[in-house]
Amino acid sequence: MRKTLIAGNWKMHGNLDSVESLISGIKGQLDDSWQCDILVCPPSIHIDKAVKLTKGSNIAVGAQNLSEQDQGAFTGEISGDMLKDIGSKYVLVGHSERRSLYHETNELVAAKYAKALEAGLIPVLCVGETLEQRENGSTLDVVKAQIDAVITFYQDKAEGLDKLGQCVIAYEPVWAIGTGVTASPEQAQDVHASIRQYLSDMNEAVAEKVQVLYGGSMKAANAEQLLAQKDIDGGLIGGASLKADEFIAICKIAG
Ligand code: 13P
Repeated sequence: MRKTLIAGNWKMHGNLDSVESLISGIKGQLDDSWQCDILVCPPSIHIDKAVKLTKGSNIAVGAQNLSEQDQGAFTGEISGDMLKDIGSKYVLVGHSERRSLYHETNELVAAKYAKALEAGLIPVLCVGETLEQRENGSTLDVVKAQIDAVITFYQDKAEGLDKLGQCVIAYEPVWAIGTGVTASPEQAQDVHASIRQYLSDMNEAVAEKVQVLYGGSMKAANAEQLLAQKDIDGGLIGGASLKADEFIAICKIAG
């Protein structure tokens, strides 16, 4: 049985004060009886503070990006080892904003994915189609190619599948991110079920194990229906994760 994971992607928002108030707001309303896993992904510079503030709680902290390099003359970059060293547990890879604004290709995302695992981080592999791709019927081809890139990065398919089995996948239709337009529960479930089937055709154990989150304008008002879908194992939440009450309301729904 897969656990539900409710993850907040804070993107490039906040400051030292807001990290403190947001985390204390979340912590103050947590209920020990909830079974879901909770993750917050602040900007890298706030991870250290978030780790300290969440110590002793069951809120995990993750990063939003990492370098595909180990170390060296890569000005401005942050390695997986550095993220692990300061207490990150997860790291997002291939978020659509990184893919579109920073030109991250499937191959680069796969290289980052590999570095995340090497560092002992759990990669959250973000996949999803643009509106144009949805409208021309290529949603599944796009998502499969984004997943395949991780598998083929490794020497052989068995190794690639083993590595894929160590991640969380986040399906985030690009047209639903930050737009207020959520995929309908049926639209989301359709893609989630296809992802699960695609994984299952390659390796049933991987398909059973990997959590597939939905992301894209998820909020307390639509979380219940989305999370009720069979193949939706949680949410990757942007805007609504910046308000403690809203984020905690989604965690409560996940239960
Ligand atoms: P919104 O929830 O703001 O649409 O963002 C989703 C997202 O990109 C999470 O990674």
